[in-house]
Amino acid sequence: MASDAAATERLKLSEIFLSLQGEARSAGLPTVFVRLTGCPLRCTYCDTAYAFYGGEWSDIDAILERVRGFGVKDVCVTGGEPLAQKRCVQLLDRLVDAGYRVSLETSGALDISPVDTRVSRVLDIKTPDSGESGRNLWSNIEHLTPHDQIKFVICSRADYDWAKTQLDAHGLPGRCEVLFSPSYGQVAPRELADWIVADRLPVRFQMQLHKQLWGEEQGR
Ligand code: SF4
Repeated sequence: MASDAAATERLKLSEIFLSLQGEARSAGLPTVFVRLTGCPLRCTYCDTAYAFYGGEWSDIDAILERVRGFGVKDVCVTGGEPLAQKRCVQLLDRLVDAGYRVSLETSGALDISPVDTRVSRVLDIKTPDSGESGRNLWSNIEHLTPHDQIKFVICSRADYDWAKTQLDAHGLPGRCEVLFSPSYGQVAPRELADWIVADRLPVRFQMQLHKQLWGEEQGR
């Protein structure tokens, strides 16, 4: 019976590593990344396709133990799409209960309502050029709090114009901070920065710090 209980708490884990958080509110802070395997989306710019498959089963106690070993307070649960594994919610609960500052990077395609609001949810809204805008689960917006963030990865001027429309249509800046990030290699960062300034858009421009430091190296 004990083995059945343990089996219910397992997750398919792609990797765990220590790096600097490259995005969102905690950018620049040493952070442990827990990357879960699997994602039902296929964004055109995906840089973690290696996490779609494979990985190893690990029970939540073992994940907590490995996180503890790194000795830092910030933990980011990411993927893939971490919420594609139902027990991700359990992992997040355990991490916040253990006193970590926890963020969750999610595609915006799956329901975030079961996630503890002590977790800072970084919710993507997929633009048309991601190839996955039809997967946006717009009902997620009503579950966001000021502790969360919304992220648009902008691949083109058309994406930018579309994203701007969504800000108003869904009242996004009133809910939480909104991030606009240039898609690596597709939009020049300066170009996006100029558009935001010209439009006085109430969003935060961000670049992926880890890519500036380490390029597309895995585990960074
Ligand atoms: S949601 Fe994230 S992990 Fe999934 S395909 Fe898109 S960019 Fe890749």
